[in-house]
Amino acid sequence: MRRLVLVKQRLPANSSGDYTLQSMRGVCTPEFNQEVVTKYLELCPTRKAIAFCSSVAQAQDLAGKFSSKGIPTAFIVANTSESEREEIFSKFASGEIQIITSMGVLCEGFNETSIEAVILARPTRSLALLVQMCGRGLRPHPGKIDCWFVDFCENISHLGHPTAEYEIFLCPSYRKPIENQVKECFHCHALVPLIARICPHCGNELGMESALEPQPSELPPFGEILNPNQKRQAKHYRKSIKLAFIEKNSRAEVEQKFLQKYKFSPPSEWGQYSVFNHTSKVMGYNKQIYIRYLMQQLESVANMAWVIKMMQIEFGLIENDIALKKWWEFFFVPSPFANKSEMDEAYRYVVDRYQFSTYAKDILMQLNLGYDEGCIFYLQFNERLQAKVKILESVKDKPLALAAAYLRASQIEKVWIDRNVSKPLGKAIDNAVANHWDKISV
Ligand SMILES: [Zn+2]
Repeated sequence: MRRLVLVKQRLPANSSGDYTLQSMRGVCTPEFNQEVVTKYLELCPTRKAIAFCSSVAQAQDLAGKFSSKGIPTAFIVANTSESEREEIFSKFASGEIQIITSMGVLCEGFNETSIEAVILARPTRSLALLVQMCGRGLRPHPGKIDCWFVDFCENISHLGHPTAEYEIFLCPSYRKPIENQVKECFHCHALVPLIARICPHCGNELGMESALEPQPSELPPFGEILNPNQKRQAKHYRKSIKLAFIEKNSRAEVEQKFLQKYKFSPPSEWGQYSVFNHTSKVMGYNKQIYIRYLMQQLESVANMAWVIKMMQIEFGLIENDIALKKWWEFFFVPSPFANKSEMDEAYRYVVDRYQFSTYAKDILMQLNLGYDEGCIFYLQFNERLQAKVKILESVKDKPLALAAAYLRASQIEKVWIDRNVSKPLGKAIDNAVANHWDKISV
């Protein structure tokens, strides 16, 4: 499925978790509608379509723009009368009207099966709504072989495919491997994502390789200009935050120690993106490993508000998706699997499904995180860790490689390694990390 990435703007959500009308209005503008029309004409100008909009005004404007390009279009909104609706539906069924634009989901009295394209001209964070909207185009109809989802707001890449039961085609078929970070499965020779642990095609276990992320920049652009003294203090603060994370030390102590040293509390914006690069392509993953690190410290701080505050210091105040995800949620399922082999199956499925999506790297790194935690859940983690320990053992005398191998292990692997490796290896790891932590990106 080709993605039409025309809007990448982050929107504030309302209390139900979906975007507010006001925030959508800023995105779904007349200019945006113009893009929708242009793309539609380019991609599938003859397809019978319904378009979902964020507001009455947008639905009206979009219908006008399609009509002006010679495509007979009508719009249906809440106060469209019953008789008017019936007329539109019957003209739509006969083909006299090619497109219906609408706000919300077309429900009552609408059961048209000949729809060949669903135009998503509004963003949503609700999978249920996405499924409802796309479902409108998935009803069988004589002679119809597919339905295109023309998604202008990256809803499908954010929320996942609305259905797994239908093959969905959107021409021209366009698949691009993300950043060419692929490796060959030595069993079936398929090219698979570099970070995949299991080959989606044959189920072969692949090695663990982590995709490298760039280092955080020294200082992100602050809203204020810092004098040399402040610059030094900010740098110290940022280093302390990163070091605390890497060494799994108390995050709360960073501020305390800063206060002792400099006799004032550091402005929280100094701490932003201390651990992770603000241009990271795997921000969802970063948030999940960071919130895990913070939650492990909850005993001593004992409230979730602190975790949120620390998350905001790192990732910024506008963030609203800072909840801890359960490991199975990385597989897009509501509860754990019955057993590990079902989890392995699901892993292959998710890799296969998302490997070419815009957010593949982020989704797959989170999947790996979920996979690690799932393995513990199924009490079958030991075998994999023995392999990891072998790797650590093999680079015991190369401190830089040892530190890298350790630091790039997942949080859970680290906890396990800390508890279970031999004393000499543990010591070698400690030394290597102490001497080289700042040379390695996590
Ligand atoms: Zn394979």
